[in-house]
Amino acid sequence: MGDEAVEGEGWSLVRRAEPAPRPVDGAWFGSYISMKNVYGSADGGPYTCSCCGHLTLTVRAAWEICRECGWEDDGQDDHDSSVVRGGPNGPVSLDDERAAYVAEGGVRGDHVPPGPAV
Ligand SMILES: [Zn+2]
Repeated sequence: MGDEAVEGEGWSLVRRAEPAPRPVDGAWFGSYISMKNVYGSADGGPYTCSCCGHLTLTVRAAWEICRECGWEDDGQDDHDSSVVRGGPNGPVSLDDERAAYVAEGGVRGDHVPPGPAV
């Protein structure tokens, strides 16, 4: 059985006979979730963003997006800031994004990780 066109009132779609290829590389994902992260609970916050250094995060390593610089906090911090993780922040390292933030006119605050990476 092949693809099937389905139409309704004001809409249409194609029901695929085969599932779409999975976009996530299993080897990459295993590597990504094994990385050490800096964590911080909501009880200890707020926290400075590891990218811009502003006090914008309520928790750490919870994929919160910084409202100042747009960095998505997946737990990356000073311990591996040169690494391109390939997670929610795409093909840039934390160091790259820090430099871009300053190049775009941002003023970095003093960032202190709330604890060691674990
Ligand atoms: Zn930020």
